[in-house]
Amino acid sequence: MSGRLQGKIAIIVGAGQSAGETIGNGRAMAVLFARHGAQVLCVDRHLESAVETASMIAKEGGSAAPFQADVSRDADCAAVVAEARSRWGRIDILVNNVGIGGGGDGPAHRADEQAWDRILNVNLKSAWMTIKHAVPIMREQGGGSIVNISSLASLAGGSQVAYEVSKAGMNRLTTSVANANAGHGVRCNAVLPGLMDTPMAITGIAEATGSSTSAVREARNARVPLRGKMGTAWDTAHAALFLASDEANFITGVLLPVDGGMAARVG
Ligand code: NAD
Repeated sequence: MSGRLQGKIAIIVGAGQSAGETIGNGRAMAVLFARHGAQVLCVDRHLESAVETASMIAKEGGSAAPFQADVSRDADCAAVVAEARSRWGRIDILVNNVGIGGGGDGPAHRADEQAWDRILNVNLKSAWMTIKHAVPIMREQGGGSIVNISSLASLAGGSQVAYEVSKAGMNRLTTSVANANAGHGVRCNAVLPGLMDTPMAITGIAEATGSSTSAVREARNARVPLRGKMGTAWDTAHAALFLASDEANFITGVLLPVDGGMAARVG
């Protein structure tokens, strides 16, 4: 253990994962943060999935606790923050990883109202609410680090309007929180994953389109400039680890693409 987060208390919201063949972003971050010495509150709507992540960490000799919450509800967001504080006395890191899509989303002229409300609530409002509850504690402590998991879809695309707008909102939430809290030592940054080989993406798209997972993988790999291969959840996790750690001490308000060069390619 190299201890880049030694002694830090971290909350990871969305630390469980969708079923599938590979590891998800939230679980990879929880495992990596614990490997680097953080004590991690693994928060998820599905308790059994959070328990699985916490058990993986315990098996490696790390420290973690599962916690069930539906962060689309303000009371649950308050409970997440209260749990970390009562368990460990402080909160150094907050990661907002929860993100959903699909189910009625589409281009602007086709998306339905229920999908818009659900996706904006779960992806964007939840991140604001966890931040709202964590920031006063971070200010009181004299600092903290917030990492929001946004998406390259916040910058480009056109087929999933609610998802794209929720992530664009998350980018602005990130810079707004960074500005409002810079004087208090609370940093806020975002990671913008591109095409990643995670269960949510691969199994999710395969199920929605009726394609095989290998066909989905092949089509996504072909779109990535760097080595013609998607990233993995570990790529997201390493970027988040850096932003969460004191190595990023002078970095706030940054929207960091982790995308194998996709954002740099125009046309
Ligand atoms: P995942 O679906 O495997 O994990 C997310 C977890 O969030 C799940 O365990 C789910 O149960 C939980 N969750 C969902 N709604 C919740 C709620 N209301 N309250 C509490 N928990 C809830 O996904 P992942 O691989 O960890 O990736 C997640 C993030 O990465 C999302 O924000 C997604 O938008 C972003 N992202 C992924 C890709 C990709 O290609 N995989 C690309 C860009 C961005």
